Amino acid sequence: MRLMNNDQVNGNKKILVGACLAGRPCRYDGNMNCMLFQPGDPTVVLICPEVEGGLPVPREPAEILGGDGYDVLAGFAKVVTRQGKEVTKEYVKGAEKALDLCLKQGVTHAVLKSKSPSCGSGKVYDGTFSGTLKEGFGVTAALLAYNGIRVTDEHSTGNLS
Ligand code: SF4
Repeated sequence: MRLMNNDQVNGNKKILVGACLAGRPCRYDGNMNCMLFQPGDPTVVLICPEVEGGLPVPREPAEILGGDGYDVLAGFAKVVTRQGKEVTKEYVKGAEKALDLCLKQGVTHAVLKSKSPSCGSGKVYDGTFSGTLKEGFGVTAALLAYNGIRVTDEHSTGNLS
């Protein structure tokens, strides 16, 4: 398996990386994604917005209902679990913590997991829990992008510079 280091991705400027892309088992199901970033790289700042927002591991999967992350931040859409529990507050809190971290650490770019209701950029699941994707951003990805941070996913790290 080939690990990326930040020098390849962002010329050694600090980047925010979704923790599940660096080997942390913080996914909703408690599993790891494949490890794409070297843990321990001082220029890589890790965060899992859902855990930072107060959600446990494992947790019920959630999707955005009625829009995407931008609509959640504007108050027009919400994040609900498969069982129908609303977790919008936790998602927004996690997004705010991620933005805070970026501002404090001078982060200008982020690599976040595709399709996630927090981290997805470009496409997210459509709220029907049927595996269907729609255009849009997750809540954290939307807040970061709105604040001028360049957000991409693990498939498009070449677009960062
Ligand atoms: S996709 Fe984002 S919120 Fe979900 S486990 Fe990974 S880092 Fe956490």
